[in-house]
Amino acid sequence: MKAVQVTGYHRNLEAREVDEPKITGPLDVVVRVGAAGVCRTDLHILEGQWAEKSGVTLPYTIGHENAGWVHAVGDAVTNVAVGDKVILHPLMTCGLCRACRLGDDVHCENSKFPGIDTAGGYAEYLLTSARSCVKLDDSLEPADVAALADAGLTAQHAVAKAAAVLRPGDVCVMIGAGGLGHIGVQCLKAMSAATLVVVDRNPAALKLAEQIGADVTVVADGSHVDTVLELTGGHGAEAVIDFVGEGGSTTEGVRMLRRAGNYYVVGYGENIDVPTIDIISTEINIVGNLVGSYTDLQDLMVLAAQGKVKLHTAQYRLEQFQQAIDDLSAGKVRGRAILIP
Ligand SMILES: [Zn+2]
Ligand SMILES: [Zn+2]
Repeated sequence: MKAVQVTGYHRNLEAREVDEPKITGPLDVVVRVGAAGVCRTDLHILEGQWAEKSGVTLPYTIGHENAGWVHAVGDAVTNVAVGDKVILHPLMTCGLCRACRLGDDVHCENSKFPGIDTAGGYAEYLLTSARSCVKLDDSLEPADVAALADAGLTAQHAVAKAAAVLRPGDVCVMIGAGGLGHIGVQCLKAMSAATLVVVDRNPAALKLAEQIGADVTVVADGSHVDTVLELTGGHGAEAVIDFVGEGGSTTEGVRMLRRAGNYYVVGYGENIDVPTIDIISTEINIVGNLVGSYTDLQDLMVLAAQGKVKLHTAQYRLEQFQQAIDDLSAGKVRGRAILIP
């Protein structure tokens, strides 16, 4: 089959002919890839940023945002059948460790991550496990949802934590309305009656945020912290979800927080520098977020099927992988780039 592989770092991906994955374990599932999202993480992989962390051996097939049709199943698989339309949780998890038993998939002690440390979805077929398959509603197609497997799931995971404690009329600030943020806006409006304030430097991103449900949009022009404080009677917001995490957003984000408020870190890059006396005297919480669980992905697919979460995509054929990578790298992709085998 055709697969697009990393053959070395700091060089282009290569289209190669490789063996189709085979069922060897009882819970194995082979999926015919219908769509694979092209993600900024793929660029970082090519830059070698993940080489040491993932320990992957080259060459290998990348692509960690995958959806398609079940092609073959191991003899113990009961939750999906050949022909089913599925989106794949990005991790292959063991189901037996404590984290798995708590439903906390991303912290599985024996997981594999297709596209990061084992063969991924820039290919015609992909090996995964029964535990990773979420069946898609009839109304959804793999190409519409593939990129929700990672970027969307991460937004959903953070927003679900916030929505669980936000009360009607509370204020939630989102910093950043780009790739993840525009999913976050839709998820929050679907799951919470909190007032949603979206902050971004880019007026076009704010315009989109407004169209998809933001109650208030604020240009990040230096006065945005004061604007949020004014909007909240000087108290600050109950929740701040930061999809940026660099360029000063963490200092500003914490300043926008109410006493006992929750600050959700999603984007990353800079250090958070908050005096410990401020943390204890205001009882603020700083909460990390890493991808999302299987059930978060199920919830997100319900919202997608209900039409409450929509993803903008730019589609490329698998052979056009280099164009997709170049466009993403040059900031030319509107929404998420998707490869279609
Ligand atoms: Zn990704
Ligand atoms: Zn596990």
